[in-house]
Amino acid sequence: MKILPKGWTGKILRINLTKRKTTIWEYDGELARKFIGGRGIAIKLLWDLLTPGTDPLSPGNKLIFAAGPLNALAPNAGKLVVAAKSPLTSGYGDGNLGTRMVIHLRKAGYDAIILEGALDKPGYIFIDNNKTEIIDARDLWGLDAFETERKLREIYGENVGIVEIGPGGENQVLYATILSQEGRSGGRPGMGAVMGSKKVKAIVVKGTKEIDVYDKDKLARLSKTIYEEIKKKPGYNFWRRQGTMMTVRWCQENSTLPSYNFKEGVFEFASEMDGYAMEKIKIKQRGCPLCNMICGNVVEDYEGEESELDYENVAMLGSNIGIGDLKKIAVLNKLADKYGLDTISLGSTIAFSMEAKERGILPEAPEWGDFNAVKELIEDIAYKRTSLGKLLSQGTMRASQKLGGESYKFAMNIKGLEISAYDCRAAPAMALAFGTSPIGAHHKDAWVISWEIKTDRTAYNKAKVEKVLEFQRIRGGMFESLTICRLPWIELGIDLEYYAKLFKAATGISVTLDDLFFAADRIYDLIRLFWIREYTVEGKRWSRLMDYPPVKWFEEPLTKGAYKGATLDKEKYDQLLNWYYEYRGWDYNGVPKRETLEKHGLSLEAKQIEELGVKLE
Ligand code: SF4
Repeated sequence: MKILPKGWTGKILRINLTKRKTTIWEYDGELARKFIGGRGIAIKLLWDLLTPGTDPLSPGNKLIFAAGPLNALAPNAGKLVVAAKSPLTSGYGDGNLGTRMVIHLRKAGYDAIILEGALDKPGYIFIDNNKTEIIDARDLWGLDAFETERKLREIYGENVGIVEIGPGGENQVLYATILSQEGRSGGRPGMGAVMGSKKVKAIVVKGTKEIDVYDKDKLARLSKTIYEEIKKKPGYNFWRRQGTMMTVRWCQENSTLPSYNFKEGVFEFASEMDGYAMEKIKIKQRGCPLCNMICGNVVEDYEGEESELDYENVAMLGSNIGIGDLKKIAVLNKLADKYGLDTISLGSTIAFSMEAKERGILPEAPEWGDFNAVKELIEDIAYKRTSLGKLLSQGTMRASQKLGGESYKFAMNIKGLEISAYDCRAAPAMALAFGTSPIGAHHKDAWVISWEIKTDRTAYNKAKVEKVLEFQRIRGGMFESLTICRLPWIELGIDLEYYAKLFKAATGISVTLDDLFFAADRIYDLIRLFWIREYTVEGKRWSRLMDYPPVKWFEEPLTKGAYKGATLDKEKYDQLLNWYYEYRGWDYNGVPKRETLEKHGLSLEAKQIEELGVKLE
């Protein structure tokens, strides 16, 4: 047993909802050093505690809320990782959201919460430092996410952190998220549905303790320097003006803005929904705690209400479904947030239904661009009200399985998770990033498209694979386990070395970035093993096909824009995948080899997966 260094609280609050019993699990320095926090701790807990083959919406699933050793202590460290076995993909699912809850959680003395079992009637959890209560929430059940938080703040005031679900989570829409602070939302692969299945409406945390750190003064000095540098960066003012909304125009200029269910990479009304159009209707900004470059742009929508926009939700609920009026998009986005639905999966699933209608196989779906019909449909999805709402509440993969025929060809998902808003026909590295993302198609781990567009963008080469790996190590491994926002680095160029220094100041452990990347590789291996374990136990065949982008990108060329005629090349994509597996030390089917697992300190996990009949090379 290794002594726990400072920085971590070393305590995990385990709440058995069925028995209404809480226990505190104290962990040692080995777990902390190997898995760091956030995503790292979450996958380790899921690997150790979840019975393989568990139905994600059954009481047996574990819902993890995990912080890292910098949370509450450093710039942009107001993020919380939420993770569970995903009901959307049946594999590993997670996401992060900015919330004051993570700061209170750490100050209450915990690095993570595990929810297991399920309540017999709706409740919410109130953690007040050492005391944990489960409180009746029947009067909150049915409220939207914004109303829920408002009601809880009437009871507990402003000095608490709250996360909650909306009706989408309650009704177990498979891409329901967990929300906080009117617009912060995370857990795309159905983490809100898992919380709903446990009948937990919200978690309220009040923490007032000091977090014991190695060098408090150093931490404060480093934080001050980083905050000052952020403000001096040349891109700072524009970032504060537009945030990720600047990406709309950039994607349009580079033929990567999805329109009409990824039919094209350009959209005829792009200029009406871009960052400049947003600035005209912007009323204020919101953001995550501990951030001085907040990027949530709040606009007044078509109905005179507030809606917080970012690139992904505008592209997926705008151009991808044929709507170019930003005020209308803002209405749809606000509905998604209130109901607690992931905007990317929602936009993609609605776009899928529109294409199915166009092809004559789903007549009841809305036409492209039909704002009123989409508005109604979002409500039908959240409440699973109509047959169409029920069908689309399950995401594109399941909807296409139900529709059958060739509909799988335009169901824009990988491993069951809908692709975020970048067309990749002329961006093979980004396609590989989506293909190998550890939660299914998501841009968070390796957003290489900006780099790729500046290089020989349509080439398939090793440099591209190396860039995907580099970004996965930094973004998907280091930032997601430190549980800290990556945007100061990727958007403004804050030096990565600061994060190793912050880590040292908080924990006392000297690390190089390579040490953090080594831990990142370990985390990726274990997430991969988790997918393979679940597939194996559920009798589904795991193969490299799981890392393939959707058929549409291979078979249907773009018909407009500078990259007219472009498709992904299947043979060349296969070569990228081969190189990727080689670099990772995984076999032909993307299964980590035994020596890779041993190198990363996962010998026990290697043995456990072999016992299930998985052959390791
Ligand atoms: S940059 Fe944006 S996402 Fe990152 S911490 Fe700040 S508000 Fe949150």
